[in-house]
Amino acid sequence: MKRDYFKAILVFLIISSLTFFIGIKINSSFGVLKSGDTFSDKGENNIYSLTNYHWDSKTNIYYFDLVRKNENQQLVLIYGKLPSEVLINDTVLKESSFFSRLLLSSDWFVDNKIRVVFNTSINPYNTPIYVTTTSSAETALSTFNMVFAFSLGITFLMSIYGLSLYRRKQTEKYLLWFAIYTGALTLWSALPLFVGTGINFLRHYVFAWCVILDIVICFKMFDIKLPGGFNILLSIRGVISVLVLWSIMESIFPKLHSEIYVYSLFLFSIGVLIYACANRRKGSWLLISGHALSLGLRMVIPLSSLSSSSVSYPLRALQFSKFFNIPFAFCCMLLINHIFAEKFTEAEILTKELEQINHNLDKKVMEGKQALQEQMTRRHSLMMNIFHDLRTPLFVMQGCTQKITEQPELLGAELPIIRERLDFTKHLVEDLFLMAKLEDKQVILETDRVPITDLIKNVISACSIEGESKNIYIGTELKCDCITWGDEYRLKQAFQNLLLNAIYYTKPNGKVYVSLKKERNTAIISFTDTGIGISPQDIDKIFDRYYRISSKEKHQSTGLGLSIAQEIIQQHQGSISVDSQLGFGTTFIVDLPIIT
Ligand code: ADP
Repeated sequence: MKRDYFKAILVFLIISSLTFFIGIKINSSFGVLKSGDTFSDKGENNIYSLTNYHWDSKTNIYYFDLVRKNENQQLVLIYGKLPSEVLINDTVLKESSFFSRLLLSSDWFVDNKIRVVFNTSINPYNTPIYVTTTSSAETALSTFNMVFAFSLGITFLMSIYGLSLYRRKQTEKYLLWFAIYTGALTLWSALPLFVGTGINFLRHYVFAWCVILDIVICFKMFDIKLPGGFNILLSIRGVISVLVLWSIMESIFPKLHSEIYVYSLFLFSIGVLIYACANRRKGSWLLISGHALSLGLRMVIPLSSLSSSSVSYPLRALQFSKFFNIPFAFCCMLLINHIFAEKFTEAEILTKELEQINHNLDKKVMEGKQALQEQMTRRHSLMMNIFHDLRTPLFVMQGCTQKITEQPELLGAELPIIRERLDFTKHLVEDLFLMAKLEDKQVILETDRVPITDLIKNVISACSIEGESKNIYIGTELKCDCITWGDEYRLKQAFQNLLLNAIYYTKPNGKVYVSLKKERNTAIISFTDTGIGISPQDIDKIFDRYYRISSKEKHQSTGLGLSIAQEIIQQHQGSISVDSQLGFGTTFIVDLPIIT
């Protein structure tokens, strides 16, 4: 952290001093009043000279003589803000915050000399007064007007830019502050246009306002808060109060107008920017560089006035057109652009993600719709099967009873058929009912200790008749005595469905194996047969309720056996999976949690 502060201070000092020295260099490359050079055209050097440069301690005035080179010279005096009354040939120059020009009439020259008197004890050496030829004056003034219009226009546009962004995005308060700050800069630049009007008095205060708002914008751009109750100073009311208070103080103590006091306020904004850099706020290096540029340029004026060099016309033109604020304000604008560009990119990424989600959602809806349609079709075919399965035994039984009615001696032969049909119908109705209840979670499971080995043995003995009828060998490999917690009756039903399926779908003389092993806290029970197997396209659907694979091997099935088994196992916190190879056999694996 300390290093970051040091780095920020160093960067600020380097950029501001570099700007300052480049400014000084450029400044001294232009002609200045003292040397008699013109500011624009090196070819017109020495069109005049100054002599008798003198301070009269008795009268407390400065004076010097302006000497033209020859009688034919038409010289023009260009002057800006004056520190005091200036008299030329007893004419008092009218103060202006713009550059004005005064044609030095030939009548005023006595022996090619004019006495210029400064009614001040302050050295007028650096007063913005320039002497040149009429044509150069023309160029100089129009250049100044261009720079002035540029500064005014650019600060005004920046203010409109901030305001229009803020109107769209009122949550970003720094936009409003940027608009206010650049608005104040615009007012400061524009004030010279209103000389002589009612609002001209503002010119004493606006510079300080701009500097105070410069501090505020540094806080706002990085959302830095003042500690405790001081943060109120950064609210709209707080800032207005500070501005009013400073202006009142300026009215009471006019000394505060002095640039040195206002300039010292910049220390606050520099402090805030250094803090922002040390805390790695986004864009802080950009703003500190902008501020260093602005301040470095600004410092050329007072510091070269203190030194022996004078301030050249181009630099004065930049100062008078309030150009020095622009680098910092421009960097603020760049930062705003950067923030918005980042937000725009984020929004673009989000939109793309949203589009992807929408696309996936559409896909899922389509898949769901398709699955629903398939389910409807399956339900429909099941209903048709159920109706068919219910109707067939009824027809058979109707035929049997008709036969018995006509030939009562056939009763013995027809009765087993009627019983068998009745059994199937009962089985189908019971399965349907159980499935419906399981689906609605209406079956209340008994909970008790269930020894799985005994359960498997029971199931095998219950299915032995079916096995023997097809001469199917049922082998077992029971490697542990696991105990699970659950409903023995329902678990037996689930296992029985799996074993019966294995027998049903295995050709006569085939083999079926039931095995049990333990893995951690799970009992793994598998039912393996050497039967017809299940094709890969059917394997995902066999657990669906009502699903039956059309097959020649079909027993009197309901298409509910596996669904019932799965529902029961799942309600015991277990799972059921299948592995099959068409034509070679199938293995159903049941995982059940065990009590250790
Ligand atoms: P079903 O009463 O038709 O047997 P199930 O729900 O028990 O109904 O089985 C669904 C389908 O899964 C059956 O129609 C059958 O085609 C297939 N199937 C189930 N077990 C086996 C197995 N051991 N071998 C081959 N196919 C099987």
